[in-house]
Amino acid sequence: MIRLFIAENTPPFTEGLTLALNPDQGRYLAVVMRLGVDDEVLLFNGRDGEWRARIHLVTKKLVTVELLRQTKAQPQTGYPPVLAVALVKRARLETIIEKATELGVGAIQLLITRRTNADHTNVGRLRLIAQEAAEQTERLDVPLVLSPVKLEAYVKELSSDDRIVYGDEDSTHETEGRQIRPMTEVLGRLEASGRIIILIGPEGGFDDHERGNLRQHDQAVAVNLGPRILRADTAAISALTLYQATLGDWR
Ligand code: SAH
Repeated sequence: MIRLFIAENTPPFTEGLTLALNPDQGRYLAVVMRLGVDDEVLLFNGRDGEWRARIHLVTKKLVTVELLRQTKAQPQTGYPPVLAVALVKRARLETIIEKATELGVGAIQLLITRRTNADHTNVGRLRLIAQEAAEQTERLDVPLVLSPVKLEAYVKELSSDDRIVYGDEDSTHETEGRQIRPMTEVLGRLEASGRIIILIGPEGGFDDHERGNLRQHDQAVAVNLGPRILRADTAAISALTLYQATLGDWR
């Protein structure tokens, strides 16, 4: 059945509530999918679980739906992981947004680093990709996609119980006299009461200054994702997979 995300600024879902779909969603149901009055869809709004709804009215300009009953409760998720990722070329960034949504991130923070080779991005389009991926993957919320900020500023403004787990492919370096540890090992020992932020650098990697800052930061820990250099999209997907398998909701 078709699943649609209903924007946050609508009233809480209750039985009998009638909602007007936004024009894109209305057109999608009526024109693209050829649904009509009394056909049913599933709706979620990120707060009230998933609801079955009946199409109530279809006109050229307006499609309304009536909520019938809740089909799934909103899960209590604790802290889902955050993905902080440097801007990379558009197609790869879109892949990252889609796959990270499928893998259950709570938020995606876009970052500008010294070697970032894309200086502007269409955040609205990325948000739509996250929304469509959430609809498709049967999530009951849509991850936030947060406008780009500079890595240095982002790291400065963390709250004290956040932990950053960052991919560092530079296996010739050592942190505190030790080699960078594999990600599963690091996650197994991580003591965190707040958010865990998985940080992946740009295609050109972190520069020495950024790496130096991260290495000194007492809330940040470097992880190794194997002996090969991964592209940013592969690194992000791999890191989120390991997170979900060790600390997250795959257990
Ligand atoms: N430094 C490389 C490529 C960077 S890869 C170059 O000069 O081309 C992009 C990002 O993916 C890195 O910043 C890092 O966060 C992550 N990454 C890639 N391979 C990794 C590995 N084997 N271990 C840990 N992180 C990795």
